[in-house]
Amino acid sequence: MLNIVLFGPPGAGKGTQSERLIEKYGLVHLSTGDIFRANMKGETELGLLAKSYIDKGQLVPDEVTINMLRSEVLKHHDPKGFIFDGFPRTNNQASALDSFLTETGTEISVMLALEVEESELKVRLKKRAEVSGRADDANPEVIANRIHVYNAETAPVKDFYQEQGKFVSIDGIGSIDEITHRLFEAIDKL
Ligand code: ADP
Repeated sequence: MLNIVLFGPPGAGKGTQSERLIEKYGLVHLSTGDIFRANMKGETELGLLAKSYIDKGQLVPDEVTINMLRSEVLKHHDPKGFIFDGFPRTNNQASALDSFLTETGTEISVMLALEVEESELKVRLKKRAEVSGRADDANPEVIANRIHVYNAETAPVKDFYQEQGKFVSIDGIGSIDEITHRLFEAIDKL
């Protein structure tokens, strides 16, 4: 199986690039942000809980997120692989992911980390706010908090994969096609 963690700060382009990767490698796309938003739209219990965190730019608690992701993984029988987009976002989530992939007889192949500097992220998120309709994109304080949470809690997840020799850094600046090409190259080298 080819199991990819697509990593990067808010606005790095994970969603856009995921679509390209799914198409080329036939992977199952699991985006925790998309799953939370679908639940928010459907006003499920999970959605209401998630909303109370997402609207403030905070992370949804690990236990909730891990259980949700785990049940999504188990829904798929015999997939070619997964692309994890927006997960893991804490070291706790990363070790939980390792354990349950081990249980199902597989493992993470690589973490591809899209690197984009903070000033560019703010510009992209502001632009996205005009089209996404996402409340968490519209408010500069919420954006600042998401970037803060990323630096404090999520960026350390890189070390987790670095220690396993699975970390690959990808320059996230350039055209969408250029970045896709960099990702394809990194995967084809595995
Ligand atoms: P972005 O990458 O633009 O921040 P996402 O769509 O990945 O957006 O996530 C939106 C929000 O959903 C996050 O700010 C966070 O509140 C919540 N979320 C997504 N993934 C996770 C996760 N793995 N753990 C905790 N919260 C998460």
